[in-house]
Amino acid sequence: FFFKSREIRKGKMLDFNFRNPTNILFGRGKIATINEHISPGSRVLILYGGGSVRANGTLAQATAALAGYTLFEFSGIEPNPSYETLMKAVELVQDESIDFLLAVGGGSVIDGTKFVAAAALFEGEPWSILLDRGASIERALPMGTVLTLPATGSEMNRGAVVTRRALQAKLVFHSSHVFPQFSVLDPEKTYSLPLKQISNGVVDAYVHVMEQYLTYPVNAMVQDRFAEGLLLTLLEVGPRALADPEDYDLRANLMWSATMGLNGLIGAGVPQDWATHMIGHELTAAHGLDHAQTLAIILPSLLTVCQEDKWAKLLQYAERVWGLKGGGEETRIEAAIALTRKFFEQMRIKTHLSDYGIGEESIPRLLQQLETHGMVALGERQSVTLDVSKKILEMSL
Ligand code: NAP
Ligand code: FE
Repeated sequence: FFFKSREIRKGKMLDFNFRNPTNILFGRGKIATINEHISPGSRVLILYGGGSVRANGTLAQATAALAGYTLFEFSGIEPNPSYETLMKAVELVQDESIDFLLAVGGGSVIDGTKFVAAAALFEGEPWSILLDRGASIERALPMGTVLTLPATGSEMNRGAVVTRRALQAKLVFHSSHVFPQFSVLDPEKTYSLPLKQISNGVVDAYVHVMEQYLTYPVNAMVQDRFAEGLLLTLLEVGPRALADPEDYDLRANLMWSATMGLNGLIGAGVPQDWATHMIGHELTAAHGLDHAQTLAIILPSLLTVCQEDKWAKLLQYAERVWGLKGGGEETRIEAAIALTRKFFEQMRIKTHLSDYGIGEESIPRLLQQLETHGMVALGERQSVTLDVSKKILEMSL
């Protein structure tokens, strides 16, 4: 069925529908304008995490912008938001007849708010939203976001990831009903981030682009060049954003790259991989690693193990992103993968399981989790079976 992956010119762009309804409010001080985007008289619930937005003043700005609305707060949404916590917010929404949700925070708060938006209006057991990956969502409360951590793209997409701690299950759902109606992207909101979160954000965004770019070629010239532009921008901006944390232009470009990396645009009409994310989610569920750490571990090994399937695009990546020309094809591919790993390390994220104290003995458990969650045929060709995942994990040690 698949044309030979070594031939770059054979594929045809896939058919697609594309619509992204999120209104982006980009720039300094844009929080002050959110009232223009919420119906007057709404009962608004502001959701946030462990308190960073209280400490850096973002919460106070949001509250000030919403004078005149009836406001409620829900705090304590944790990194890798938990079903257990979010269900408490659902209860509050129902008890107080909330009609608009405002997420103030990073991907975890935004993802969690998407779940609350859908679960609050859901008939039946809300956990089934995760089990059927969002298919049963028929409506959701309207929501907006104030983004404080550039990374996930959740502020402009229809996906979310929720963890049920009791089951050690970290699952994804998608629904067009949970697109934020608006998202505030104010680069200055990122100044208070610990550098570790900048590292995480850059690597997460880089891997989002790779999951939609590094598959097999379908002559998607526009999407490819958009993707390469985002990768090159992240390579340039990432290390400098660590060195110079209050450079507005660096933060602005980082923020917009991360949003553009996963808002549907570069993924329209092209095959998508996502195996790195799915294997990574199991690592977070089992060992509590940060999302980006799991990606930095898995991606280089996955590219190596799956290089035959990805050959043509690996060569294109080597040449257009890393400027590698000449020499044998295999050498160029190997070098591109090595440089990718080196970039993650330069972003101060370790790329081996052993760096996090995880050894061979946890591989059977990770494979078991993948099987339980139905992750047995991953990747753009569904060729990442449990055997292939095993090879990837072994190579990641
Ligand atoms: P996060 O988990 O939302 O936040 C990480 C930490 O950063 C939190 O402790 C948070 O503290 C802190 N923080 C956030 N903004 C801050 C600021 N401006 N100043 C100081 N501290 C700040 O990180 P994330 O990387 O954005 O989200 C990761 C989650 O998103 C994972 O669960 C991942 O699986 C998911 N994800 C979703 C998508 C998608 O498309 N929906 C894609 C990829 C990943 P507080 O809690 O105190 O605020
Ligand atoms: Fe991600």
